[in-house]
Amino acid sequence: MSNLSALWQPVRIGHVETRNRIYLPAHQPSLPPLEYGAYLAERARGGVGLIVTHGFHVHPASARAGVSPWEPAWADAVHKFVAPAKSLGCPVFVQITHMGASGTRRTDDMDLWGSVLAPSAIPSPVHRAMPKPMEEEDIAAVIEGFASTAANVQAGSGDGVEIHGSHGYLLSNFLSPYWNRRDDAWGGDTARRARLAVEIGRAVRKRCGPNFVIGIKLSLDEYLGDAGTNPNETVRVVQFLERERLFDYVCISHTDYHQNHKLVPPASSGETAPLAANAKLVREALAGRIPLLIQGSVRELNTAAQIVERGQSDLVGLVRAHIADPEIVNKAREGRADETRRCVGANQGCWRRLGQNLSCTVNPAAGRELTVGITVVKAAATPRKLLVIGGGPGGLKFADTAASLGHQVTVWERGARLGGQVRYAGQLPDYASWNFLVDDLEASLRRRNVDVRLNTEASAEAVATFGADEIVVATGARWQTSGFSTFRTDRDAIPQARGSHVLDPITALDNIEACGRKVLVVDDNGDYLPIGLARLLAASDREVLIVTSDAMSGRKMEATLDWPWVMPRAALAGVKLRTSTFVERIEAGQVELRSALSGAAERIAADTVVLCMMRESEDYLYHQLKARGLKVRRVGDCIAPREVDDAVLEGFREAQAVGAIA
Ligand code: SF4
Repeated sequence: MSNLSALWQPVRIGHVETRNRIYLPAHQPSLPPLEYGAYLAERARGGVGLIVTHGFHVHPASARAGVSPWEPAWADAVHKFVAPAKSLGCPVFVQITHMGASGTRRTDDMDLWGSVLAPSAIPSPVHRAMPKPMEEEDIAAVIEGFASTAANVQAGSGDGVEIHGSHGYLLSNFLSPYWNRRDDAWGGDTARRARLAVEIGRAVRKRCGPNFVIGIKLSLDEYLGDAGTNPNETVRVVQFLERERLFDYVCISHTDYHQNHKLVPPASSGETAPLAANAKLVREALAGRIPLLIQGSVRELNTAAQIVERGQSDLVGLVRAHIADPEIVNKAREGRADETRRCVGANQGCWRRLGQNLSCTVNPAAGRELTVGITVVKAAATPRKLLVIGGGPGGLKFADTAASLGHQVTVWERGARLGGQVRYAGQLPDYASWNFLVDDLEASLRRRNVDVRLNTEASAEAVATFGADEIVVATGARWQTSGFSTFRTDRDAIPQARGSHVLDPITALDNIEACGRKVLVVDDNGDYLPIGLARLLAASDREVLIVTSDAMSGRKMEATLDWPWVMPRAALAGVKLRTSTFVERIEAGQVELRSALSGAAERIAADTVVLCMMRESEDYLYHQLKARGLKVRRVGDCIAPREVDDAVLEGFREAQAVGAIA
């Protein structure tokens, strides 16, 4: 890791001082107040310099069921999630927001249903709810909502508020020439579009006084060209707001819901700090009077240090890096940066679970700090001799966790490398960061002196002879090549799917050169694997067609935000797609397809067919060991084939249950 000294300088924001230049930006883990307090405290204990909480809604037209931050009683909840981090020396600002045109009134609480409020009648491209253009009384009520919510933050011991004016939410709607089509005192030129920000800032300052931080988060670019907010317009807004001297800091984010895949880009996007270069324009507009905070796809402290050194921002926010490893800052400061557990950027546990309790593929303790946090989990009272069979993510997580608790752990892996199918994911274009998961676990096992034996086949006899106190089976799953699909209830297999030119995806990845000139990839699982494999094949000069019975290929990639980044690249690589189409039968050199819509049949040439369909558990050894009466448990795909975060979570959970088998 290069020189990070630029990060360790304090920064003054209003009446508070941060201990360093790294902050935890707002993000939504959907936790109750006590659990949220423990979540934030874990990151404060880990060294972060400043925390900004997720957004709380200031008005019933932008409310979540059961939470009314504008009501005085909410101050008690604020204290619960703010006080633990503050007691560890970390200031906490609470973000306050109104969703505006990007909201939906269709919450669990039907009493909250009603029209969305926005400056003009332009619907969100996501929810498509036509807003009611706000009238004077609506605007006055929202200003009052911001002020009363800020007062409750102050009463709950929050150090300040961050007023959300980005992401296509209400304040950014007013600031944006695209969203704000008004011709009254709240729309038109920059000054009138910024008037709501000014009035909210004045109302909050009046209610909370001078010793309370008020920050504002702005969208640097909505990516709507001159029609919307762009960097030049943001600089004009900042210059206008600065004349009022209302705000103690400015935070820069970006986009509205037209391009919300840019909000939390997966690692496959390749994005790194896309706001940094233009953020400098905003910092110059602030002229050093108040600090600038930026966020957005900063994954490493090295990148953050460069941003600070170049004068692009005063503080730099890292969200996912902190979810993955709450101690990332302390590890760097203490010369233990190589122990950092890196985010793989797959968005499985964070973005995909938006609205549910947060999780994390590499850190299953995220969101559960009250029960399995770093200072909560204790070493095992009775260390055991443990044998792990299978070096995929579940087995490795079990081994690492068990070793951290003081157990003596041995891992047997039948292959020549650790990582299981995650290593294959890491081979796919734009998915190399999956290797972080295995590399970091391997490094941790070395530090903990876990005995790892590669090329070691586990028979029931050998396991029994080893004499472990407990055994963990993590033998994973294999791909089926029958062509069974849950979307074809009339048959259990694709006729003739077992020909030698029919491959499963792992075999194809191991033998790209053995694939013919024309390859048909069947996407029955909606994951990135069929797309990534198709891209690899296309890059090696093959004609590739992906066929799926679904209405879209790669459907699961929508939820992780990979789809808008990856699918255009597949198209540019020459990969062809056929959706709503079944593979009716496979023959030598050709395949019969049938449209799921019209029923029309067609024959196309295919030298090789790769079936990315179902997997089945490798559970034979587990049942053998169980039948022998050995103390055995299992984790991951050998229970049922699922996703990586399931395997890692089970490895983590089962390691803490060691000793519980009678
Ligand atoms: S769930 Fe994945 S993307 Fe999200 S923080 Fe964890 S490792 Fe990173």
